[in-house]
Amino acid sequence: MTTQNALLDRIDAKTMLDQTLDWASVNSGTANLEGLAVMADKLSSAFSVLPGEVELVEPAPVSAISADGTEFEKPHGRHLVLRVRPEAARRVVLTGHMDTVYPVDHPFQENSWLDDETVNGPGTADMKGGLCVILHALRAFEASGNADRLGYDVMINSDEETGSLASRPLIEKLAQGKYAALTYEPSARPDGTLAHARGGTGNYSITLRGQSAHAGRNPQDGRNAIVAASDLVMRIVELAKDDITINPAKIEGGAANNVVPDLAILRFNIRPKSTHAMERFDGELAPILAAIEADHEIAIHRHGGVTRPPKPVDDRAQKLFDLVKSCGAELGQTIGWQPTGGVCDGNNIASCGVPVVDTMGVRGGAIHSPDEYMIVPSLAERAALSALVLEKLANGDPL
Ligand SMILES: [Zn+2]
Repeated sequence: MTTQNALLDRIDAKTMLDQTLDWASVNSGTANLEGLAVMADKLSSAFSVLPGEVELVEPAPVSAISADGTEFEKPHGRHLVLRVRPEAARRVVLTGHMDTVYPVDHPFQENSWLDDETVNGPGTADMKGGLCVILHALRAFEASGNADRLGYDVMINSDEETGSLASRPLIEKLAQGKYAALTYEPSARPDGTLAHARGGTGNYSITLRGQSAHAGRNPQDGRNAIVAASDLVMRIVELAKDDITINPAKIEGGAANNVVPDLAILRFNIRPKSTHAMERFDGELAPILAAIEADHEIAIHRHGGVTRPPKPVDDRAQKLFDLVKSCGAELGQTIGWQPTGGVCDGNNIASCGVPVVDTMGVRGGAIHSPDEYMIVPSLAERAALSALVLEKLANGDPL
């Protein structure tokens, strides 16, 4: 029997589709804690067919800045962790997310068939189909008779779509000491192309507090926070270079037309392409904030920073890409890759020094839109691919 047939025999495409459609029918927008709890429940029972214990881990505390400048704690759902053979010499981590970008009141809530092989549905590609690929790849791997040498952790977080702030410590803990990592974002293109190097991203909220005064009677006594925020915008956009983009996104605060405003909150995003660019920006921002404080006689509070460091592809990571490609070839699948501007948990795993391929999930497209679709045969196809990669990681030459 060929490798392909033996693997495909162990993968139940019908069950995969039923599970994916069932999971996609549960709204699990990142802020929908009830929906996330339902998903965590469904996933816990689905993943309990594997060896090891499923555990639900509390989210790490995360704060944000409200439109009135106060810091508040943002609630999050729990994350799922499964540990199997923790004593194994080679251990890998497989990660996915149970949240989606669609809030509970979003009009896109239902699955529908576009044709015999394509389903349009919320989170089908990103990434409930991918979660199903993890489960069925591991089932096939466990049934292969070659699983003993490889231990693994599965981590499914509840907040990937908002930057994994409540799961980042967990991801970093689970990545420690791992031989390799696989993350189940959908392929970068519908033909199965993987995402290769990724840039990073950071989000900042800068709160500027001045002094209010009457705009006509004593404006000289005021310290205008909107003017200071505008000056800040003009100075940070100067920091954009070939290796980093800076997007001032919003200024909140302000006051009535006859009042010198004492509050402004500037929110901006940065996209560093390299670790060097990320660190350089951080070094340049601090003196600019100090200068704005001094020049405008206002107080500044800085919140946020880089949440996803850039993900270059080093030699060991490239070996993992090559391994995925050769496994694809054994299964008759052509696997290529391309760099992308998008970010995901693969960024955070790579920053722990662990080789990662982060688009091992289904083939599909139009993610983060009501046109999101999954190519149904890719469920079994990608599960076979991952199962074979796991067998080679267990028994092949070191990366
Ligand atoms: Zn995703």
